[in-house]
Amino acid sequence: MIPDSRTVGSLSDAVEFHRPYLTGREPAALAEVLTGTMHGGGTATRRCQDMLSRMHNDAPVLLTLSCTAALEMSALLLDLRPGDEVIVPSFTFVSSASAFALRGAVPVFADARPEDMTIDPVQVEAAITPRTKAICVVHYAGAPCAIDELKAIAGAHGLRLIEDAAQSIGADFYGRPLGTFGDLAAVSFHATKNIHCGEGGALIINDPELVERAEVLWEKGTNRKRWVRGEIDKYTWIDLGSSFLPSELQAGMLSVQLEDVERVTAARRDLWDTYMRELAPLSGSGRFELPQLGPGIGHNGHIFFLRFTDMDRADRFTASMAEARIKVFRHYVALHDTPAGRRLGRANGDCPVTRHAENCLIRLPMWPGVDIQRVLDAAMKALA
Ligand SMILES: *Cc1c(COP(=O)(O)O)cnc(C)c1O
Repeated sequence: MIPDSRTVGSLSDAVEFHRPYLTGREPAALAEVLTGTMHGGGTATRRCQDMLSRMHNDAPVLLTLSCTAALEMSALLLDLRPGDEVIVPSFTFVSSASAFALRGAVPVFADARPEDMTIDPVQVEAAITPRTKAICVVHYAGAPCAIDELKAIAGAHGLRLIEDAAQSIGADFYGRPLGTFGDLAAVSFHATKNIHCGEGGALIINDPELVERAEVLWEKGTNRKRWVRGEIDKYTWIDLGSSFLPSELQAGMLSVQLEDVERVTAARRDLWDTYMRELAPLSGSGRFELPQLGPGIGHNGHIFFLRFTDMDRADRFTASMAEARIKVFRHYVALHDTPAGRRLGRANGDCPVTRHAENCLIRLPMWPGVDIQRVLDAAMKALA
């Protein structure tokens, strides 16, 4: 299509679905990194790790290239092998399953509960077999999954618990930060998350017995970290590993973003509350449902979503919002029914809640500074 003044105009005044957060301090932080060490593991990396550790009950933290990389480290650390099974949600991003499949483990997909689209503990329990080694849970939309129940299930069956905390920085359950419940937790600092460094992540190591090996895997399977601490004269190759650590450039940017977690969370929760307050009166009555969060939920406003009763309603809503030049999006395809999900994994049942959400869940624009009144006006009109 050849752009004319109308389409150019309509592009420029569209409401973006997401805009990566910037503090304004990134250029200075990057300039500082450029004067010193630029490979990973330097001052900025340590600063980020210390901040993240403080935010997560002082658990040791390693900065990684992505949440995906942190999940891959988890799979290595837990010694997952071909034939082992890991229960994961079907309603999640690819990495929650692919990180385990990469070690030859079988992702076993479990359905979500509709009220918050996190993994359903009943389905998790039903998916356990003698081969199950771990459960990987996702705090969808930055709101805690049924973490107490899931932790109890993992404990009762001797399974490891991994939190895919990609979306949940700054969120808590009854005051306890998400990312501190599992043996391991993986955080994302991808540009689409609440705070970010373009691409980035972190591994939170809550099981003290995994810390030393995690440092080795992180440094390509060497004991370089012990050498850095002056504990040994030479470092050498001792285990599996890869290059999991980001450069100081990413860490420099992340360090200023981390300073703003509370501010970003507050701004997003404000938006989330506004959406909830304005849209709640229109919900139910067989048209659409809003998320239902129970007590103790300290979510971080990462995503606001509506679940329409049928695909036709979701399509009509999306079209109507597009007319107002407002971008809204569905989210995950049911992972158990993707080409790789079918080949490498196994589904526990049909996952009907996930299948429904694949077609009927719509996310609204959500970022500090979004023109929420315009979104709401258009949404009210579309939902009337
Ligand atoms: C974003 C996301 C990931 C991947 O994060 P990266 O940092 O891009 O690897 C994994 N899981 C979930 C639930 C996510 O939302």
